[in-house]
Amino acid sequence: MSDGRAAKRVAKFIKPLRVKPGSTVDLTEDFDPRYKAGMKKRDGVELLRTGVSLLADYQARLAAQDTYGVLFCLQAIDAGGKDGTIRHVMSGVNPQGVRVSGFKVPSAEELDHDYLWRYAQRLPSRGEIGIFNRSHYEEVLVVRVHPENLDRQKLPEEAKGPDVWQRRYREINDWERYLTDNGIKVVKVFLNLSKEEQRLRFLKRIDRPEKNWKFSAADVREREHWDDYQEAFSEMLSATSTPWAPWYVVPADRKWFARISAAAVLAHTLIGIDPQYPSLDGRARKELLAARGGLEAEAP
Ligand code: AMP
Ligand code: MG
Repeated sequence: MSDGRAAKRVAKFIKPLRVKPGSTVDLTEDFDPRYKAGMKKRDGVELLRTGVSLLADYQARLAAQDTYGVLFCLQAIDAGGKDGTIRHVMSGVNPQGVRVSGFKVPSAEELDHDYLWRYAQRLPSRGEIGIFNRSHYEEVLVVRVHPENLDRQKLPEEAKGPDVWQRRYREINDWERYLTDNGIKVVKVFLNLSKEEQRLRFLKRIDRPEKNWKFSAADVREREHWDDYQEAFSEMLSATSTPWAPWYVVPADRKWFARISAAAVLAHTLIGIDPQYPSLDGRARKELLAARGGLEAEAP
């Protein structure tokens, strides 16, 4: 497939997943976790293979060009498939060019700083793809659903009013715009899992010894807050899908479809950057040729 055709195909594939900036999302109404674009699993797996090698090629050029960085944020409810998505989508790329950061309950040191501080520490450099397994969006998700997290953040009184979430949306949008303007492109994928599929995945984690480590009793307690999370997700998607960093809602009930969708969203970003290997100017080329001459003269 030509580059132009691949680019068009990717753009068409991800279009229905994008949250239109300025639109109001009701997650339970607007996005189907079982959507699969009429595709069969066999074709999806094949397509992922093509996507993975496409990503490897683009990532090599991104690193060589050393001008843009890509921040890939993955958000989901428990058992949404973040780890598996990262493992599959990044399976072909050079590990030197990728940095994965997971975010858990903040440490004492992290709580002693402004809330974006720990995320800023983990940003990709130019030429790098940075993956956030959970991200700064936890600050308007788990922190919102469980306000005691906000109390632990040691904020001054005036920063804790009822407008705190609206303010955080704005601050996050501004931060992402700043990053984008400075060459760090922000890509955001929300893995949209149904409640029934989460139940089935939890059962697997309980029943299969090799999956036990992924499960904790706290996960079932979080599940009781399902509706609160859906609401927080919906508000987050509505308020922070921007022209410079739109959200993509990826149907997550079928792992294979979630993986090709995430790969396609990342590919779309890299295609947009269109990184090129640096070409040498006249002087550098002369130096190269001189070095070549020297090496040849050394031939035994
Ligand atoms: P896991 O992804 O299973 O390793 O779990 C990480 C846990 O850290 C999840 O329960 C998240 O809700 C929690 N977490 C992540 N970020 C924050 C945050 N900013 N404040 C409080 N809890 C968080
Ligand atoms: Mg967990």
